Amino acid sequence: MRILIVEDEHRLASVVKRGLEEEGYAVDTVYDGDDGLALARLGHYDLIVLDLMLPGADGLSVVRTLRQQSLNTPILILTARDALDDVVRGLDGGADDYMTKPFAFQELLARVRALIRRESMSRDPVIRIRDLEVDTVARKVRRGGRRVELTSKEYGVLEFLARNPNRVLSRTQIAEHVWDYDFTAMSNVVDVYIRHLRRKIDEGHEPKLIQTVRGSGYELRA
Ligand code: CA
Repeated sequence: MRILIVEDEHRLASVVKRGLEEEGYAVDTVYDGDDGLALARLGHYDLIVLDLMLPGADGLSVVRTLRQQSLNTPILILTARDALDDVVRGLDGGADDYMTKPFAFQELLARVRALIRRESMSRDPVIRIRDLEVDTVARKVRRGGRRVELTSKEYGVLEFLARNPNRVLSRTQIAEHVWDYDFTAMSNVVDVYIRHLRRKIDEGHEPKLIQTVRGSGYELRA
């Protein structure tokens, strides 16, 4: 899952980015509202963490502009402790949740997970597809009751497929939601990860869950 951070306090932005990356998210950071708007419009993100007080377009106008353009990516706004009016305007403008600074990183993570889950077909933090279980909180995977060890990026690809079951996903779509800006161009890397996942998830199991759709991409078939 890929997250955009729009935050002009560089230190805070880099701490949040590092923490989210340690949890396996692909993260891009920009430091003003105009860049935030430009990147958010690409539609590659599963979540936007948005500061309200920003140079360029302020956070509130970023929220309103994105929503007016029917971009429905979940938005978590960050505000100063005493800015109740901003929170109300942010939520009324189309943001989904907020946190006041300073915040505990564990709480940010839980809110991020909850917002991403809200976009999925199921609100259950454990995604179940036949005998495959993807625990999106612990980031652990089981097939047929047996634990499957995955690298962080293998897990990322699988989680994205599992959140979109029975949907053909192109290599580009998968790459855009699992890798950050620096890697997006290398969409053939997706094939390599799919090969690893097949070996770990499907080998020795029936039915095969990961399907190739010729000329289009991949599908996790339930
Ligand atoms: Ca700020």
